[in-house]
Amino acid sequence: MRNFIIISTLVTSMALKSCKTMDVTLTLNNPEQLSNVIQQIPADEDGRKKNALYLPPREIKTEEFNTPILHAFIDTMYSVMKNKSGVGIAANQLGRRLQIFIIEAKSDNPRYKVLGPVPKQIFINPFITKVSSTRKNFWHGCLSANGEKRGNVATYEWIEYTCKDEKGNIQTGRLDGFAAVIFQHEFRHLLNGTYLDVAKQFLSKPELDHGIETGEIPFFETASDTLPLLIGGYTIGETLDQYHSK
Ligand SMILES: [Zn+2]
Repeated sequence: MRNFIIISTLVTSMALKSCKTMDVTLTLNNPEQLSNVIQQIPADEDGRKKNALYLPPREIKTEEFNTPILHAFIDTMYSVMKNKSGVGIAANQLGRRLQIFIIEAKSDNPRYKVLGPVPKQIFINPFITKVSSTRKNFWHGCLSANGEKRGNVATYEWIEYTCKDEKGNIQTGRLDGFAAVIFQHEFRHLLNGTYLDVAKQFLSKPELDHGIETGEIPFFETASDTLPLLIGGYTIGETLDQYHSK
């Protein structure tokens, strides 16, 4: 009996270890399989504790830049985002705890036509260095929140960032408009949690569409300080590792 317990403990810890190792690797054994797996936000606390959406993502290491493995991983992220008509995707939405996200909104995306196009940009080990004093509201939805209502939250009107590109070169830049909204939405994924953890006002897609059409609902307008901030809790200037070690 005792041996059985020892063996089963060993097997369990090995399984946990391989699961843990798996979710921080860039290597894709079967990219096609991964492309069908968008992590959905677990409903209960226990599920969240084990889900990549709620666990700290790791930095991409120097030796991992400009490798076929990194390029293949990013290509897969991008094709999943496009297949799902998303305008952004973070690595932990594919179950991988890695500090990578992509944003892109094409003008032919019917959901976001009015907001204008956002060019494709890849952010690796990103952090925010400066923000506007003004905030804007936006009704967020998410590929990981299938069937959930849209939530009204505030994001900074513009942000400045530092990150690395696929070759490992440091990039800095400034984003405003819709690009700043998507950046902060994806950055929230890497901080863990989503708009569903932050928002206090929710609407279904038809309710939202109707409200925007009639002008009754604020859409991408200046937000008051009382509207919850999507990346609240994050201190401007800190890296994701610093944020998660607090
Ligand atoms: Zn999302």
